[in-house]
Amino acid sequence: MQRLTEEQRARIEQLARDEGTTCEGCGSARLRCGEEARRTHDQGLMVYLWCAEGVHPRGAYQYFTILPEVDIGA
Ligand SMILES: [Zn+2]
Repeated sequence: MQRLTEEQRARIEQLARDEGTTCEGCGSARLRCGEEARRTHDQGLMVYLWCAEGVHPRGAYQYFTILPEVDIGA
């Protein structure tokens, strides 16, 4: 696992918005990047995006992958 900085998390949240990613549960575009990233087998990154809406009693997250050629300021 790789710890993400605030700047990296903000960059990833921007990437998700740019791609039109929304919460699979409620459709909201307000998603917060998790604090850790996992390296994928092709050297990309996989992170969790958490829904920022208060409508999920146990929280809601989905996976978001970042291709290796995308610079998140690592
Ligand atoms: Zn949601």
